[in-house]
Amino acid sequence: MIRRSWVEIDLQAIARNYAVYKSQLAPQLKVMAVVKADAYGHGDVEVANVLQTQGCGDFAVSNIEEAIKLREAGIKGQILILGYTPIDCVELLKQYDITQALLSEDYAQRLAGQNIKAQFAIDTGMNRIGLDSDDPKECERIIRQYQTQFKLTGLFTHLCVADTPAEEAFTSGQIENFKAVAESVQDLHLPFIHCMNSAGGLWQKPYGNLARLGIVLYGLKPDYDNQLPDGISPALQWKSVISLVKTLRIGETVGYGRTFTAKREMRIATIPTGYADGYNRLLSNRGFVLIHGKKAPLVGRVCMDQITVDVTEIPEAQFEDEVTLLGDGFNADDMGKMISTIGYEIICGISKRVSRVYKK
Ligand SMILES: *Cc1c(COP(=O)(O)O)cnc(C)c1O
Repeated sequence: MIRRSWVEIDLQAIARNYAVYKSQLAPQLKVMAVVKADAYGHGDVEVANVLQTQGCGDFAVSNIEEAIKLREAGIKGQILILGYTPIDCVELLKQYDITQALLSEDYAQRLAGQNIKAQFAIDTGMNRIGLDSDDPKECERIIRQYQTQFKLTGLFTHLCVADTPAEEAFTSGQIENFKAVAESVQDLHLPFIHCMNSAGGLWQKPYGNLARLGIVLYGLKPDYDNQLPDGISPALQWKSVISLVKTLRIGETVGYGRTFTAKREMRIATIPTGYADGYNRLLSNRGFVLIHGKKAPLVGRVCMDQITVDVTEIPEAQFEDEVTLLGDGFNADDMGKMISTIGYEIICGISKRVSRVYKK
């Protein structure tokens, strides 16, 4: 392992989050682990393998390359692609035994007759993909028409405000509309009916037989104001080191654009992690890192490969000391809040050049 910029991933924390969440979930809901985007930056093969060992047999990804990668790594259970796959990849879907979401009637028609595994997406308000549940009769007609052309294994919808208590009525409406469609084709005995994401599974009245869980498996929150069950903890820490410590005189500036000026004599440290590692440039003059457990505020702009922090109050800070960018009580949700985004984007954004180290 090269100590430049790296993340430490605790796979046991992911196994624990899975167990805790499962214990809180309605008993009729099995967990489908959402491992898209390289398991939100945690490593899709590693995460899927750990969850498979814990008894999880259903996985969801965003695209065919992610799906094939899991199959080739020996993931056995159901793999559902939640979004678009190019029509000319149909042979790959068959070859790797992957289940494809059907995004619209037109999309279903283009894939029809190949006997691939598929599930219809139902649009209950997200207005992104799926058959429009505002017309349940039409949904029923399409599902019945195409069920002979696919190995149709289910129906799913996606909730857009399940993390927001004030939007309770909208969410129940989504679930009701989905239920109406699902019940209209009950005689087809489709094995997977699912509408819950992390937030839905925790806070909504259960419906269906699967919950598609992403963010809680990684120990983060759907929304900053949410409260997670006890025992769920972030699985990822992001570390770097100090590459240089220097003293600034009063009036000297730091970095591109000279956006920071020393108002007193101060000590600063340079850290070899920058926006090309996924350290968001909006953290310039705003974020902080932890050194010896103490906060060191960013001074100046985040560069492509380096940041600079104030260590005046951390006199023991020196060359090659470890730096925590995420961890020690400051997680991706907290960092996201500082720059008006969500923890999801922070962890998905940690780039591939940051090495992943697994604690077993
Ligand atoms: C990403 C995604 C999920 C997982 O959402 P979390 O909030 O991370 O639990 C579930 N379903 C669909 C369709 C998704 O795209």
